[in-house]
Amino acid sequence: MHALLTDILRQVRPLIGQGQVAQYIPALARVVPDQLGIAVYGVDGQVYSAGDAHTPFSIQSISKVFSLVQAIGHSGEAIWERLGHEPSGQAFNSMVQLEVEKGRPRNPFINAGALVICDINQSRFAAPALSMRDFVRRLAGNAELAADRVVADSEYQFRARNAAMAYLMQAFGNFNNDVDAVLRSYFHHCALAMSCVDVARAFGFLAHRGANPHTGEVVLSARQTQQVNAVMATSGLYDEAGNFAYRVGLPGKSGVGGGILAVVPGRFTVCVWSPELNAAGNSLAGMKALELLSEQIGGSVFSALG
Ligand code: GLU
Repeated sequence: MHALLTDILRQVRPLIGQGQVAQYIPALARVVPDQLGIAVYGVDGQVYSAGDAHTPFSIQSISKVFSLVQAIGHSGEAIWERLGHEPSGQAFNSMVQLEVEKGRPRNPFINAGALVICDINQSRFAAPALSMRDFVRRLAGNAELAADRVVADSEYQFRARNAAMAYLMQAFGNFNNDVDAVLRSYFHHCALAMSCVDVARAFGFLAHRGANPHTGEVVLSARQTQQVNAVMATSGLYDEAGNFAYRVGLPGKSGVGGGILAVVPGRFTVCVWSPELNAAGNSLAGMKALELLSEQIGGSVFSALG
């Protein structure tokens, strides 16, 4: 596996220089663009990695999966009274649909949906940022994990669009907590700094019927795990979920920090990171790396159909 990962990075490295790192906040705009790493975490607990797999990066929207899992963990099916699990077909930060659909976000992986999930968690936890940090530390088996304060503060400074979405949902009666407090929690989660190895390990339960391969902790039931994977497969890659299904064929979740998490059910989780993004906001080299990996191992969940 190590040789395969090294070879995949060699093949995708020429793509670096053809994308652009996220520009919406200075803290991300200055990330060194030519970093590239990949880590695989098997359901047997083995870790394989190549490149910059131990370098922490800003997980950004990958955190939306942690928030969703936390919310499902304490509130189960009830969360779907507040939002849907349909692809949006709109940009992740679009407000158009939210107005038309009366403040009920399409899914938990667009910003409006993630904010509703954070609102649900805000009602549950006395200190949501700390609860999340400890949850992620436990899942990843890394007690050092923390949010990057500079990124979180920068997100807060440029919060206008996310704040507008939250206030719009409040106007529709779909937001219960103080908007500013929920935004702070949301930005904290986005600003968590994790390496490819951390991310692959933390989400190992998604490949293992809900149980953390390392500790055995049951994070979600097998049915809930299937459902989270289904939402990732249909809505995890911004406006490119269809393209990702076509090229890679795995449940996945990307973030504008350039990370992509993908799940090969029953086998492993994988995290790839390269900060330069394509026009849809997904890691350019990361997408290609996952395409090559999926092809090499016959990993596509659609392979049974071909
Ligand atoms: N913090 C970002 C935002 O809310 C998340 C972007 C992303 O990774 O999709 O705009």
